[in-house]
Amino acid sequence: MMRYAKNALLALSLTAATLAPVAQAADEVNIYSFRQAFLIKPLLNAFTEETGIKANVVFSKKGLLERLKHEGKNSPADILLTSDIGPLYDASERGLLQSISSDTLAANIPAKYRDPENRWYGLTSRSRIIYASKERVKAGEISRYEDLADPKWKGRICTRSGKHTYNLSLFGSMIAHHGEAEAKQWTLALKENLARRPQGNDRAQVKAINEGVCDLALGNSYYFGKMITNEKKPEQIKWAESVNLIFPNQTDRGAHMNISGAGVTRYAPHKEAAIKLIEFLSSEKAQRLYAEVNFEFPVRPNTERSPLIKEHMGEFKEDDISLKQIASLRSAAAKLADQVQFDN
Ligand code: FE
Repeated sequence: MMRYAKNALLALSLTAATLAPVAQAADEVNIYSFRQAFLIKPLLNAFTEETGIKANVVFSKKGLLERLKHEGKNSPADILLTSDIGPLYDASERGLLQSISSDTLAANIPAKYRDPENRWYGLTSRSRIIYASKERVKAGEISRYEDLADPKWKGRICTRSGKHTYNLSLFGSMIAHHGEAEAKQWTLALKENLARRPQGNDRAQVKAINEGVCDLALGNSYYFGKMITNEKKPEQIKWAESVNLIFPNQTDRGAHMNISGAGVTRYAPHKEAAIKLIEFLSSEKAQRLYAEVNFEFPVRPNTERSPLIKEHMGEFKEDDISLKQIASLRSAAAKLADQVQFDN
């Protein structure tokens, strides 16, 4: 029944194509996603079951903002879904997202994890933590990001590029808390403590710890879950087993946090459905499931964390600084990484 109705509508709009843009079905929502589809598919299916609204996903690792910009008013996209604050912030700065009004989202998502102008919302969170060799780093030997600058770690730290989006946010948080001059000193000292030139992804640093190349590494928290459960690549289980996880700055400001999140595009053809979907993703059940598939933390307060998270990460103190503030310092952080020639 439904399909016939849709086809008829399509035929109608095709004949009228020269007069008006193709009509969009009301019962769907289109997502441009930097996140891989398997991370959201189960939730989108649940959403469709509950609301009858079909959710379509276009996944790409890059180029989605350019595509949105290029398509302009004709873009079919309703939602931009990202795995980092970076692209959400950039999209809002470039006018590619619109401000929405939702009491549900205001209630479910802490203010620090959403845009003060309601253009983007965090849906899961993760911390950028210190991975430490079980063999070569004693408990309590390092407990703060600031300690990474201590000369005692000379030649003992590994990290990916200083220009990678995850490090830009961390460096941005150092600028926010210490000011640019002090943050620069810290970045330079960290660089001087590196065991090798920045290279590889976050998991490659933990591998390097396992191989004895270095003793400490920076990495996002969920990679531990991805490694310790990796039956397809069991060598990664060994990497994960060789490290302790250190959530930094627990006696002061708390560990640096980042988000995956979403925003409604500026010209969303299905704005109402888009808001409904983001609201659905902030519901208690969706929050638990969404965080669980990637070993992240639900952003919604008092939502149960996955058993694996509870076992290996426990409760920890989060830095309460707003992500908007950190994101606004990312370009300063990039400059700083250049100035100290972090990657050379
Ligand atoms: Fe990642």
